[in-house]
Amino acid sequence: MFLGQVKSVRVSLSRGTASQALKWALMIIFTGSSLIDVTRGWTYHYSQEVMNWTQTRQWCQTNYTDMVAIQSQEENDYLVSILPNRTKSPYYWIGITRTHANETWTWVGHNSTWIGNESWAQSEPNNNHITEFCVEIYVNNGANRGRWNDEKCANKKYPVCYQAQCTNASCERGKCSETINKTSCICEPGFEGDRCQTAVACKEPIKPHHGGMRCSGRHGDHSFESTCSFLCEEGFMLSGPSVFSCNSSGQWDDKEPQCTAQCTNASCERGKCSETINKTSCICEPGFEGDRCQTAVACKEPIKPHHGGMRCSGRHGDHSFESTCSFLCEEGFMLSGGPSVFSCNSSGQWDDKEPQCTVVECSALSGPDDGYINCPGSNQTFNSTCRFRCSMGFLLLGSTEVSCGSDGRWKGPRPFCASYKHAVMALASCVACSAVCCLCFCCYRKRKKRTQLRSVLKLYTTDTLPPCHDVFTSFV
Ligand code: CA
Repeated sequence: MFLGQVKSVRVSLSRGTASQALKWALMIIFTGSSLIDVTRGWTYHYSQEVMNWTQTRQWCQTNYTDMVAIQSQEENDYLVSILPNRTKSPYYWIGITRTHANETWTWVGHNSTWIGNESWAQSEPNNNHITEFCVEIYVNNGANRGRWNDEKCANKKYPVCYQAQCTNASCERGKCSETINKTSCICEPGFEGDRCQTAVACKEPIKPHHGGMRCSGRHGDHSFESTCSFLCEEGFMLSGPSVFSCNSSGQWDDKEPQCTAQCTNASCERGKCSETINKTSCICEPGFEGDRCQTAVACKEPIKPHHGGMRCSGRHGDHSFESTCSFLCEEGFMLSGGPSVFSCNSSGQWDDKEPQCTVVECSALSGPDDGYINCPGSNQTFNSTCRFRCSMGFLLLGSTEVSCGSDGRWKGPRPFCASYKHAVMALASCVACSAVCCLCFCCYRKRKKRTQLRSVLKLYTTDTLPPCHDVFTSFV
């Protein structure tokens, strides 16, 4: 533990006895635990062998980083506190110098520019011997403890060096800085973390509604130098940037875009497109509905009439806007209560009531004079049959029954009842009439043939007589 702590402080004793080393190590341990923090930044090293300024620098560069540089009063005080006191000159060289009197003092081996108001001892730098271009620091118990004095560079004093802790790997994306207690990384813009190893993150963007987003970058999708690109769905237009980037402050360099609805020819199939903030809407033509007016309004499927048939068709469907249905009835039935054809209107309603098929009725029949009629019921419908019968002493002339036809008319003539006396007289009259008619017809035919023969003979009187068979044929 003891040796480990000494090692971690890395105070170098380049020359000295073991007892001196032990004394120095103990002093460090008892000076305070804060000395352990030194390991996070520079470590300081000194030699107990005096050297001139040039030798000192060479020794420091050979064994450590360079001669000690001081960046603040705090560092100055700290350095004095850890170096062994000297009661008189020589004291310790520090790494600040100039090459002639008119030059400004410059730190070597480090880019510190600090020279405090109270760094120099009283009346110093006095350039006492004209060539006092190097600087020693008083480490004693006197009033000028920790103050500086310009000295001739050829004088010999104790070297004080520093060992830098920063390396090229200390800070991935930044510059390493060392102070008394720590090293720190001053990060490049866009990076953070102890070693500047992390790219600054931007908040994950919100994907636009009705759109898409794609983010990528060499340090991550949503980190410094990442870019996000945006696209909108068909029918929507990007409102805002199509691309933005994550800047070094962890902010996107623009606002997220939105996808604003935009009407196109395809927005509404059968209607007029209207644009609002986030969407388009369609004002449909009569008879159409749906987001894009793509659907014809539907009518309820009609009921086929009993004893009938139905046929529906249309260019948007069998039971949709502008479809028509036609109705027919079976034989002996007729449409009633509705039309033979109706249509589906733009409100999704049929423009009339469904018809029904009702059976055809024939008109009531009365019985013949001197006879009777027998029908099956009070109403005589299609295919009903009524039968006739005559009273005693009368003869039924005509069919004994008639049927109700599909057109609502009785088929065939109705019979009548005649008395037997009237029937015989009628029959005799008929026979007599037939005989007279036959006689008249025969006379007429005979007379006609005679007239034809006379005409033929007159035709051949002055010429050659016709062949006998021609004359014969004309009489047949
Ligand atoms: Ca001086």
